Amino acid sequence: MSYDENNVFAKIINGDIPCKKIYEDAFAIAFEDINPKAPIHILVIPKGKFTDIADFGTNANAAEITGFWRAVSRISEEKNLKEKGFRVIANTGSDGGQEVPHFHVHILAGKPIGKMVQD
Ligand code: AMP
Repeated sequence: MSYDENNVFAKIINGDIPCKKIYEDAFAIAFEDINPKAPIHILVIPKGKFTDIADFGTNANAAEITGFWRAVSRISEEKNLKEKGFRVIANTGSDGGQEVPHFHVHILAGKPIGKMVQD
């Protein structure tokens, strides 16, 4: 899949549409999900143009990969998520339920998140 320059997260990175930003560094931006599924529902996206987690793992350089995952860890620390726990999800492709074709992870927290998948 080629990268869609007009996807909604590309527009957030470019500043073309607003977001409730909670973190930004050279490699990543994090903001609140517009349709939260838990009391804390944060999306973390790399600034680079990657369609999904497989594209990111294959084509991002080492600094981009390290920077992205460090950002996830920093957010978990800054939001005090480690004591009670949290879940990280990377929906990928159609069977994975991915809606936005720019790699992102969901951080869900603030209550017991429940079963990993539906039966
Ligand atoms: P996914 O199914 O993993 O691609 O999830 C995409 C997520 O992006 C969904 O949880 C949406 O609620 C969220 N979303 C879509 N547009 C926006 C937006 N403009 N600001 C914040 N979150 C958004």
